[in-house]
Amino acid sequence: MTTSNIPWTINILTLFPEMFPGALNYSLVGKAMAKNLWQLNPINIRDFATDAHKSVDDTPFGGGAGMVLKADVLDAAYQSLGPDQVFPTYYLSPRGKPLTQETVQKLSTAPGLNLLCGRYEGVDERFLQKRGIEELSIGDYILSGGELAAMVLIDACLRLRPGILGKEASFQDESFCKGLLEYPHYTRPQVWEGEVVPEVLVSGHHARICQWRQEMAEKMTEMRRPDLWMLYKKKED
Ligand code: SAM
Repeated sequence: MTTSNIPWTINILTLFPEMFPGALNYSLVGKAMAKNLWQLNPINIRDFATDAHKSVDDTPFGGGAGMVLKADVLDAAYQSLGPDQVFPTYYLSPRGKPLTQETVQKLSTAPGLNLLCGRYEGVDERFLQKRGIEELSIGDYILSGGELAAMVLIDACLRLRPGILGKEASFQDESFCKGLLEYPHYTRPQVWEGEVVPEVLVSGHHARICQWRQEMAEKMTEMRRPDLWMLYKKKED
C-alpha cells in the first residue's frame, strides 16, 4: 500500500466513543469516510482503568467542585497507540490556543492526529506536561466535554484534505483564507421580495465581479471584524 492509499487517521481518546462519528458521518466528510479517505479510531479511556470500579477520575487535590481525569489511566490509553500512530497530539481545552483557520491548515497536513477529549473539570496537569501535549480551544466558552470540540476540529481539517471537497477551488475565497471574511452570495430567483441581485453579478464581466467581491469582502471585514481588518491592513501596507 502506498502512503497515499492510507486513510488519514484520527485517534480520539474519549470517555464517550459512541459519540463518534456522529455529525462526521454526514455530507462530504461522511462520504469521504465511506470512501476510506479518512478513518476515526475512538479509544475508550475507561478501558484502561485498572481498579474494580473502572475509575477514570478522582477528586481534585486542594478541594473544589468536580472530578479530574487521572494521569495514570490517561497515559495508559495514550500509550496504547502504536508506533505507527505517532501523530501530533492535542488536548481540546478552553485554556488552549484558540483554533484558527491557519492552525487548521497546518493540522490538515499532518500525517494524522491524536485528540484527547476531557470531561468534568479536565485532566491531571502532569499528564499534559509529561507527554508535552498542546491544548487547543474552539472558543471562549465552556462545553461539557471535548468531543464536540474534536468534531469541529476534525471537520475543519477534513474539508482541506485532498479529495474531500468537490471543487478544490471552493475554499480559496472562503472567510479567513486571505485574512478577510467572505463576500455575500446570491442565487436564483434574481428578484426576491423586491430585492434584486447586485447588477455586477449578472454582468458576465469576470474582472468587475472579482473587484466587487474583493471590495465587499473588505467592507464586511472592516464592519464586522475590526480585529481581522487591522491585521489585514497591516499586511497590505
Ligand atoms: N474546568 C475547565 C476549565 O474551566 O477550563 C472546563 C472543563 S469542561 C467542563 C470539560 C471538558 O470540555 C474539557 O476538559 C475540554 O476537553 C472540553 N472543553 C470545554 N470547553 C472547550 C472549548 N472551548 N474548547 C475545547 N474544548 C473544550
